[in-house]
Amino acid sequence: MIHGLVMFSGGLDSVIAAHLLKSQGLSIKALHFVLPFYSGMGLSHSNIKYYAEVLGIPLMIVEEDEEFLNMIRDPRFGYGKNANPCIDCRIQRLQSAAKIMASEGASFIATGEVAGQRPMSQRVDNLYKIETESGLKGVLLRPLSAKLLNPTKPEQNGLIDREKLMGISGRSRKVQIEYAKTHGLKHSTPAGGCMLTNVDPARRFLEMASFKPEFTLADFKLLAYGRHFRLGPGLKAIIARNDPENMVLEKMFTKDDYVLQMAEVTGPYCVLRGDATPEQLQLAASVTARYTKARNDAEVKVKVEQGGRSFIITARPAGEQECEKLRI
Ligand code: SF4
Repeated sequence: MIHGLVMFSGGLDSVIAAHLLKSQGLSIKALHFVLPFYSGMGLSHSNIKYYAEVLGIPLMIVEEDEEFLNMIRDPRFGYGKNANPCIDCRIQRLQSAAKIMASEGASFIATGEVAGQRPMSQRVDNLYKIETESGLKGVLLRPLSAKLLNPTKPEQNGLIDREKLMGISGRSRKVQIEYAKTHGLKHSTPAGGCMLTNVDPARRFLEMASFKPEFTLADFKLLAYGRHFRLGPGLKAIIARNDPENMVLEKMFTKDDYVLQMAEVTGPYCVLRGDATPEQLQLAASVTARYTKARNDAEVKVKVEQGGRSFIITARPAGEQECEKLRI
């Protein structure tokens, strides 16, 4: 049986949280959640596995799916600076972790959160709000800021030595970097949050939600890849930017999507999602051709596949300005 779970991203703070607890002789398990953008893609998560292995702790990887969408469609506590519903996201993830904690017979969940490090989810009042709303009152431990927060049950009952935890607050990572150096810890580069915290993906997300409020997991996943174009209220084209994205898009189209590829030259994969008129198919072919070596040709042949049928259309490669007007 384990004493506790540690929410584990492989980043500096979660690695330190795990190390602080393990150094006290506690038996812990790392829990890593994979955002829906990357779930179900057959990824190996080798980095996360490596950081857990170096710490010498077992790891459980959980791939998030539809539940994440229900939350992000209408977050109770709103979005952060961009389309990041960080408070709701933390709550939902911790609720999932609470179920795992119960099934593992563990008595606490620890996170790498630092009071005041991030504007939305790590303000002290929000740390307490997340603890209450996730149903983890008294059993949610933040080892890096523990001395600044109310003692949790495992600290009160002596399972965890509060004196050996930290009392860090704020955005500076100086103390953490020093700690990692002293203990020879391996961790990933500090990241600023998921892609929903970035301007461009956030804009794409809000645009998609405005045209298709009932967006699916397949729609959501596509936000992380390719160039996106709005070709009609219910029609979007996603064009790969490079070979790795070609491979991803190849895995991601659904049976109703149109898939466009150059018939005679190499070029990117285009997934066209929604009902398309012949004119819109023509437009999608033109835009796709813009991102090939044949962009200056008068005409190109584009292969279109959908639902088991395929046909060729001839299109004029679109100009840059034409594409930019349609770009999301
Ligand atoms: S940055 Fe993204 S993954 Fe992290 S809490 Fe916010 S919404 Fe969730």
